[in-house]
Amino acid sequence: MPENLKQNSLIETHLKQVLENLRLLEKKYQRPAKSVQLVVVSKTKPIEDVYSAYACGQRHFGESYLQEALEKIKKLKIKQSKIEKSQLCWHFIGPIQKNKTRAITENFQWVHSVDRLVIAQRLNDQRPSSLPILQVCIQVNIDNEASKAGVIIEDIQNLAKGLSKLKNIKLRGLMAIPQSSNDFQQQRNSFAKLREQLEYLNQNGFELDTLSMGMSGDLEAAIAEGATIVRVGTAIFGKRPTKT
Ligand SMILES: *Cc1c(COP(=O)(O)O)cnc(C)c1O
Repeated sequence: MPENLKQNSLIETHLKQVLENLRLLEKKYQRPAKSVQLVVVSKTKPIEDVYSAYACGQRHFGESYLQEALEKIKKLKIKQSKIEKSQLCWHFIGPIQKNKTRAITENFQWVHSVDRLVIAQRLNDQRPSSLPILQVCIQVNIDNEASKAGVIIEDIQNLAKGLSKLKNIKLRGLMAIPQSSNDFQQQRNSFAKLREQLEYLNQNGFELDTLSMGMSGDLEAAIAEGATIVRVGTAIFGKRPTKT
């Protein structure tokens, strides 16, 4: 088989496996069927890989690096058949610099990585009026790691209050990347902390429905603790080149 066809069928196989696994885990942890949304993380991967996932019916994609994301968004839009109403949903999940907010808010439907009010304000002010409201999550540095982005737990409430005043964005919930661990219980502990923070916000008048948590290596723990969106790259596309 030629390389590209081989890669195509590998992606199809892996994507089906991940989706099957999500449905099994929903059952196992008494979650409603289809209550966990898969966002396929295509960062660093070529557009052909995105086409392969798209051809299998995948519509939610996540990207961390703006420049390559914009190219893929443009190309996939062109690829879509004209009669098909666009149901594509692009999720920005990477760090956000101030000078990137305009392009992000013009091209994405979701942003998971808001951790400063000034960034949220810019996303709000720059959101084109032709587009529906931008869906956002607050990124939380749930294990308080120096290397990780996100607000510390103590600052969630204040940031959430600030965001709730903005008219062109809708706060949907919380996102986190916990400390790396192969231990299931430790993974669950981190995700439980995020779930408790969401519950705490909801007890204080917010109406949030999203826990964006769980990646290739900790899917089960995340679903056990109530993830509503999982962000999966490696399990579908294979390893990414490590950055030098
Ligand atoms: C890269 C990335 C993912 C995907 O991680 P995998 O381990 O490849 O599944 C998920 N979320 C964020 C924020 C990422 O940067």
